[in-house]
Amino acid sequence: MHSWPTPSVPDVAGTPVALSLHDTADQRIRPVTPGATAGMYVCGITPYDSTHLGHAATYLTFDLVYRQLLANGTAVHYVQNITDVDDPLFERAERDGVDWRDLGTSQIDLFRSDMETLRVLPPQDYIGAIETIDEVIDLVQRLLDNGAAYVVDDAEHPDVYASVNATENFGYESNYDRETMAELFAERGGDPDRPGKRDPLDALLWRARRDGEPSWDSPFGPGRPGWHIECSAIATNRLGTSFDIQGGGSDLMFPHHEFSAAHAEAGHGVDRMAGHYVHAGMIALDGVKMSKSLGNLVFVSKLTAAGHEPDAIRLGVFASHYRQDRDWSEEILAAAEKRLATWRRALAAAGTTTTATDLIQQVRERLADDLDTPGALQVVDEWAAATSPEGGGDPTAAQLIVDGLDGLLGVRLR
Ligand code: ZN
Repeated sequence: MHSWPTPSVPDVAGTPVALSLHDTADQRIRPVTPGATAGMYVCGITPYDSTHLGHAATYLTFDLVYRQLLANGTAVHYVQNITDVDDPLFERAERDGVDWRDLGTSQIDLFRSDMETLRVLPPQDYIGAIETIDEVIDLVQRLLDNGAAYVVDDAEHPDVYASVNATENFGYESNYDRETMAELFAERGGDPDRPGKRDPLDALLWRARRDGEPSWDSPFGPGRPGWHIECSAIATNRLGTSFDIQGGGSDLMFPHHEFSAAHAEAGHGVDRMAGHYVHAGMIALDGVKMSKSLGNLVFVSKLTAAGHEPDAIRLGVFASHYRQDRDWSEEILAAAEKRLATWRRALAAAGTTTTATDLIQQVRERLADDLDTPGALQVVDEWAAATSPEGGGDPTAAQLIVDGLDGLLGVRLR
């Protein structure tokens, strides 16, 4: 599947600062240690109501990760999927009386256009589940062959499940106890009560064909992929069996990332799929979690159509730390616009190239520390406050600042 155009990323002044990120599995901030190329997989959308600011904030978080790695001279192999075959998509299409394929296509187009507007660096591999059915079949077969998966005893619907006990370290990613896992599994699309499962927590790998649902042939009967195995297959087939960063929203910590890792690890015989499991908090509007059912979604496309700049939207999202559940409001956007205007005014009095390089180095340092965007914004605020209202800046210094803030934050001062 094609992704979206790549924005230009200028060279950034200063010297590299090794990136550290919080790892959900180890529950601490520690350095990312890629080779020449960092492998990053971020779970993509299920295309049914996928274009609100909450989603955009997650992808902006990993855009920052990407930018810090690039600024350090590390190439990034970025892979993202699209769950274009799954229950929520079918349910929404049926409710709205549209074909699920058409719904998917239109939502993917909207998502691409939001990402392009926000100048988010695109994945090199943007991969739909439908494109990778064969890859899922191979991995499910591998799990069946090595005893990590089984077919339920149900002649009509012989679904395939992964055994939750297939890997010794299951649970390491989320660190949840069994009771919490059971609760979240039931809440987030799991099927603990499915008769014939060996353990209520066993996760679906292959859903045997049901009337009215799309299906594909496989050695274990016609059906379609489960959600978690889709990401295991797409990620490891492109990034290798162990890669640097697995990312997504905090609602993916369990069950999705736990099972994606477990399926990959059981299939490939590795201990740990990703070096870091990185999760972005949820976005609320005026203190209430954004959701379609509550009708309080904020759409990037509407904000830009109303004349708000993508750079201001970025600054609004970056005003608080990515791991927090964050708020969005008109006041936050207005404050971001004011900040952007102040920074732009300050550019006319940018100071010397030494001042500029120092500023960019401090921004590098803040962002390398688990993407401390509030700290980075404060550093720039302090520089802006210290500039002289009479102007008198060196154009070279101004350009260093423009390029540095664009390269590191994706925010353009001109
Ligand atoms: Zn995923």
